[in-house]
Amino acid sequence: MNFFRRQITVARVLGIPVRIDYRWFVVFALSAWVIAASFREGTTMTQFVRLGLGAAWGAGLLTTFALFLSIFGHELSHALLARAEGIESDEIVLHPFGGLTRLRSEPDNPRAEFRIAIAGPSASFIIGVVALAGFYVARLSGFDALAAALSIVGFWNFTIAASNLLPGYPLDGGRVLRAFLWKRSGQLEDATRVAGLGGQLIGGALVVFGGYFYFFWRDPFMGLWLALVGLFLFDAARAVTRRRKTLRTAGDAMTAPVSVEPDATVGHLIDHVLPAHRREVFTVARDGRLHGVLTLRDLKDLPRERWHLTRVRDVMRPVAQNLFVAPSTPLARAERLLNENGAGALAVVDDRGQLVGLLLRGRLKRRADAKA
Ligand SMILES: [Zn+2]
Repeated sequence: MNFFRRQITVARVLGIPVRIDYRWFVVFALSAWVIAASFREGTTMTQFVRLGLGAAWGAGLLTTFALFLSIFGHELSHALLARAEGIESDEIVLHPFGGLTRLRSEPDNPRAEFRIAIAGPSASFIIGVVALAGFYVARLSGFDALAAALSIVGFWNFTIAASNLLPGYPLDGGRVLRAFLWKRSGQLEDATRVAGLGGQLIGGALVVFGGYFYFFWRDPFMGLWLALVGLFLFDAARAVTRRRKTLRTAGDAMTAPVSVEPDATVGHLIDHVLPAHRREVFTVARDGRLHGVLTLRDLKDLPRERWHLTRVRDVMRPVAQNLFVAPSTPLARAERLLNENGAGALAVVDDRGQLVGLLLRGRLKRRADAKA
């Protein structure tokens, strides 16, 4: 799916790049226009104001900007809770259907999953309460346009909090459900399957709802919007369940290692092994037993004239707890080690102590999941 490609980076907040999907500008303009129209004519939430054309557009733009900040606040609180759990975020993306925080790796326990997931709706709810309080103060003080804008911001934040809590993966509520099932059964895969199924059901229901709005309520805008959001959710939920089916453990995601003997020289590696196997990381093994891991980065400081005098075992990273996993190790835990062990690689060793595979950071067949 080519969905999140066209983006521009608009800011870095606490070290996290904030990107905007270019189609988001269309939604921004549309939203400003709809809100401006309601400030001119008065709708449910703006019934006590009537603004002129310029002022209405100003109010529309400012209110839309406040909505944008609300969504950003929702995503940032996911990212900050993730950081508190030891997981960095690669980016925050604002796209036409809301926002998305891309975590570098998935939480490896249900408690962290729950806390990161619930952070977003909590933030939206708090922003909603603050906006609502602001609405009453502004209304009592006679700032009617401000009051109307705050009522729109409050309403949308409550809507965002509630809709994200629907129990379907990858919505926040689906993650909460998954964390709950995961904690109860200890089975991450089963929990993901159930929560993903929930996401597909909710996505399907939204498409049906959209059709209902379109044909029976004669509200094509709302109908198409619901159907699009439903399709989007259905697709994301199905992708997650399918990916989980094929790739769950280190053994599922590993590739064949290329090994060198510990007594081989670096010169031998560079002259004879590297030309045939262009890769960044080699395992060091003898008779299938892992001795260490050697990355080309580790050789950067070794002068060329020392290549034929230096043995691989003297420059490798000797085998340690954070350099290998079993084939049955869950992929989430393996990814975490990959991100943290400094080598960017992880050997896979079976229960008889035989080297059977290699995992490389950034080369896993699946990326860390996105968070809606
Ligand atoms: Zn969220």
